Amino acid sequence: MKKIYIKHIDVKGKVVFCRNDFNIPLNENGEIVDDTRLKASLPTLKYLIDNGARIVCASHMGRPEGKKKHELSLKPVADKLSEMLKTSVIFNGEVTGKKIDKIKSELEEGDILLLENLRFNSGETKNDKKFAKELAKGIDVYINNAFGVSHRKHASVVRITKFVPISVEGFLLKKEIDYLSLAIEKPSENFCMILGGAKVSDKIPIILNLMDKVKTILIGGAMSYTFLKAKGISVGGSKVDDDFIKMCSDILKKAEENNVKILLPVDHIASIVMESNVTIKMVRTGEEIPENMKGFDIGIDTIQLYTNEIKKAELIVWNGPMGVFEIDLFSGGTTGIAKAVAESNALSIVGGGDTVSAIHKAGVSDKISHISTGGGASLEFLSGKKLPGIEALTEV
Ligand code: AMP
Repeated sequence: MKKIYIKHIDVKGKVVFCRNDFNIPLNENGEIVDDTRLKASLPTLKYLIDNGARIVCASHMGRPEGKKKHELSLKPVADKLSEMLKTSVIFNGEVTGKKIDKIKSELEEGDILLLENLRFNSGETKNDKKFAKELAKGIDVYINNAFGVSHRKHASVVRITKFVPISVEGFLLKKEIDYLSLAIEKPSENFCMILGGAKVSDKIPIILNLMDKVKTILIGGAMSYTFLKAKGISVGGSKVDDDFIKMCSDILKKAEENNVKILLPVDHIASIVMESNVTIKMVRTGEEIPENMKGFDIGIDTIQLYTNEIKKAELIVWNGPMGVFEIDLFSGGTTGIAKAVAESNALSIVGGGDTVSAIHKAGVSDKISHISTGGGASLEFLSGKKLPGIEALTEV
């Protein structure tokens, strides 16, 4: 069933509640370090302003656990949004209450109010009915423009939709769904998935869900060592999730039966400890990682092997770094793959906080077709799970 899209309704004069994901990094002086998520929300906000809606904007930031925390206030977001939208954003430092209700009722067409951090109220993460009702007071239309929290059963994502006349998709949410659906619905013949990172448990559901759709899976990062061990290949002291060895071995068998090519690293950058000033060892193809060392990145032969596959792909979905990319010594694999993805002619979709940072670090963001704003949400979507925040929206 299709959900109603913002463009399908008339927002003129309506009081709209727009749930955004303004959970952005601030430095110790409260300055915004990365405004990617703010920029991503702008098309919806501009559309609402241009079309005469009375806008109530809301978001969470960090994990204040129901307490007011000065360092997690959305005040810097209100200031930045005013600058970006070239209009003043009303902000009074409260989430609900009489003052907020009064401001809501006095909003003129095109006015925009930003509520304080939703998670300052413990009702948010508890999907609390009373809090959701408070948020919904006076609201004509609910808009979900926060893909990044759509996998969360929170009051401003799910419960609120029970108390408003209509709940619709914002531009950002729709864009995310449209791109990610390319992978789960009718993917191109040459669909290549690149998976990495530390938690093999997070990525296994994606492999299982897309096994009959994908042609090639390139695996890197710590998760590759559980797969290598499952194949009986020695991994030295590298990080292995013993609870998943059997599952990885079953996946490798299933892939063979399904004609899916799963590639694992053939060479590695290893060292004794994961630090920035250490001696590293290039473990060449055919060599074994010494017992006292751990693999922290893929080596150059693996980058080449994976690049050859990436060149053939028509659709690429990438989630998870190829190594400990936060440390320069171990970032070459992730950067190499980022460049290969950027140079390919494939439609490329990149998700997950670390992978997105790596893409920015490699300076190739503008060459990626879609950079997902949702980490956990994109993992769950690709795993075939229904996201409660999307399910709650009104159907066409
Ligand atoms: P995930 O949240 O599962 O995508 O994992 C991301 C984290 O995996 C990043 O912080 C990386 O530093 C880490 N990582 C990637 N490769 C390795 C590795 N070979 N050993 C240890 N950690 C790794």
